[in-house]
Amino acid sequence: MSNSILVVGGGFAGLTAAIEAAELGHDVYIVEKTPYLGGRVAQLNKYFPKLCPPSCGLEIQFQRIRKNPRIKFFTMAEVTGLSGTKGDYTVTVKVKPRRVVAHNVDLTLLASGLEGTVDNEFDFGLSRRKAVYKSMPFAYPNRFVFDPAALSLADTARVAANKYLLPEEPEKEISLSVGAIVVATGWKPYDVTRLTNLGAGSVKNCISNMQMERLAAASGPTGGRIVRPSDGCRPKSIAFVQCAGSRDQNHLNYCSYICCMASLKQTQYVVEQCPDARVSIFYIDLRTPGRYVNVLDKVKACPNVQMVKGKVADVRQGENNTVVLTVEDAVRGEKMTLTYDMVVLATGMQPSLADDKLPLPLPLDEEGFVMGGEEAGIFAAGCARMPLDVMRTAQSGTAAALKAVQTVKGR
Ligand code: SF4
Repeated sequence: MSNSILVVGGGFAGLTAAIEAAELGHDVYIVEKTPYLGGRVAQLNKYFPKLCPPSCGLEIQFQRIRKNPRIKFFTMAEVTGLSGTKGDYTVTVKVKPRRVVAHNVDLTLLASGLEGTVDNEFDFGLSRRKAVYKSMPFAYPNRFVFDPAALSLADTARVAANKYLLPEEPEKEISLSVGAIVVATGWKPYDVTRLTNLGAGSVKNCISNMQMERLAAASGPTGGRIVRPSDGCRPKSIAFVQCAGSRDQNHLNYCSYICCMASLKQTQYVVEQCPDARVSIFYIDLRTPGRYVNVLDKVKACPNVQMVKGKVADVRQGENNTVVLTVEDAVRGEKMTLTYDMVVLATGMQPSLADDKLPLPLPLDEEGFVMGGEEAGIFAAGCARMPLDVMRTAQSGTAAALKAVQTVKGR
């Protein structure tokens, strides 16, 4: 029997669950797929309820992890197998090589001298990264990654003798003994290229809401300046297209919960940076749960912001890299054709487990959200269970941690 707890996923829900369980005296292992902890929140410019930058909430959690020897984490790691029963599981974890020496070394100078680049996944393709990189300035662990696949031919010679890089470092497999498991695998933005009528991936200056977060973030590809990706110019008009992929039987057959609030937040980014820009929000319903209705009132009061109840049927490329929308205005019963400098698709939230299954006895609904597993001592937290905002994700992480603790204590 083991009193230890495994947390799968190092985003806000997973970190909260891990810290709560460790502070109650349990050894906790976090297994995280990416090279850093912090999950989707780390990619945001600001998050509700207080519109803090992500470094604010995450730094507090990182401090608590640093100070707690009960928490061990593995980044670039995935669960590959499970055996045993509730209270006495053996979990197999595959850890990919980071290919840099284990201690903190600043490889910024080396990285800046490299030529080869690939799409930067952290910026959703809005920037390029080098073969030696760190996802963000406040990355935790504060370590670089070496990705030989991104080297150019000339780069290969440049890094050949570098003593801090370990090109031959092998993948590792480890086994962990745990009594309960928290699944906090989070979410991913719905693949916008599937929204062919909405121009995603084909129309220049039509971006997703997560790309907008990266544009607005100081650590992002433009240093926080909201500009058109095609020419780097400030947009004079921006349209937000709500329910892009959500509430649609052909895509996500549910409301993604966060994307109305995300567009209202991003409208505020635009109003702050480009006060003369014209902003239109096209919606079916605007959902602002609880006290967030204040945010809606604030945005509605902005003079250049217009809210239109109507479904966007089509997004096309216009002249001079403008974007042309066909909209059915539900109130006036009119079909309109409108032109904007830039369009933001309020893309929905899809559970990561929809495509990346775990080798755990975990029932999922048809959309990929976790529907049970508690009888096996496996507890879902955060957006692995349902679409949630950051505050409710943290609450869900705490709830899952307490259930996991009760499971291992009761044995
Ligand atoms: Fe649509 Fe708003 Fe629900 Fe998102 S939160 S799916 S934009 S109604």
